[in-house]
Amino acid sequence: MEILKDIDGIRSARKGFETQTTGLVATMGYLHEGHLALMRQAKRENERVVVTIFVNPKQFSPTEDLSSYPRDLDRDLSLLRTEGVDLVFVPDVETIYPADFQTVVSVTQVAKPLEGAHRPTHFDGVTTVVAKLFNIIQPTRAYFGQKDAQQSIVIKQMVRDLNFALEIVIGPTVREPDGLALSSRNKYLDSRQRAAATVLVRSLRAAETLWLSGIRNGEALRAQMMETLSSEPLANPDYVSAADPETLVEFEDSIPVKSGVLLSMAVFFGHTRLIDNFLLSSNPETSQ
Ligand code: AMP
Repeated sequence: MEILKDIDGIRSARKGFETQTTGLVATMGYLHEGHLALMRQAKRENERVVVTIFVNPKQFSPTEDLSSYPRDLDRDLSLLRTEGVDLVFVPDVETIYPADFQTVVSVTQVAKPLEGAHRPTHFDGVTTVVAKLFNIIQPTRAYFGQKDAQQSIVIKQMVRDLNFALEIVIGPTVREPDGLALSSRNKYLDSRQRAAATVLVRSLRAAETLWLSGIRNGEALRAQMMETLSSEPLANPDYVSAADPETLVEFEDSIPVKSGVLLSMAVFFGHTRLIDNFLLSSNPETSQ
């Protein structure tokens, strides 16, 4: 497994495998099974797998957890070796953002609501770094998790708008046995908060049950999620949403028969903010 820190190194490594398909998994490290599942999928579908580990300062606001974001590069690298990853790109901040860096890649509409409304600078940071990583690595396919549903939608929009010549593949959310979605930030939870954090998936399931019983009303789905969340004293909801899965526009009341719905939420436990979502299809066979 090759480990590279600089862009020239990547460019010359790429010359050796230009004719091979390459799958990219971009991460902020502190790897868990959610990341590893994306890498395994990338390995099945491509001849080479490239992983990037970069805690991107531009996607954190000044009040967020950049300095405390969990890091363990040695452990990450040994997991990546076990997975048979071919190349790891671990750039320094100055490599990605030299002192005279001036460009912002900004998706204007689907980046606005939900996470974008609560973290106004977040997606500009994500799309700027992901555009750079696409240009540096030039993968055939790039893998992202359904866990960050809006991020996947924003990146797909950027790829279409800027004509990146690659395919975006979305992998399913990987969960703990009790349903909590895996996240590097779960590490921040104390034992009481960790037990309480299953309320995210419980409230998504409660709204899913309504959906499967035929309820097609955005407000009713949000109310159900909010009601379940409010049963948990340690949970402090930031938002709940029942939105159009393509435009992310909130469904106010009735949801068109043919439309699916993206149920999503962000919930604080103390200072730790967790997100989760279910993508429900109008055809229950294909819901996630
Ligand atoms: P991060 O390191 O949090 O930036 O995540 C890197 C990639 O892994 C993103 O595409 C995430 O959506 C994805 N990811 C994170 N957690 C999970 C999970 N529990 N299941 C599936 N994918 C995930």
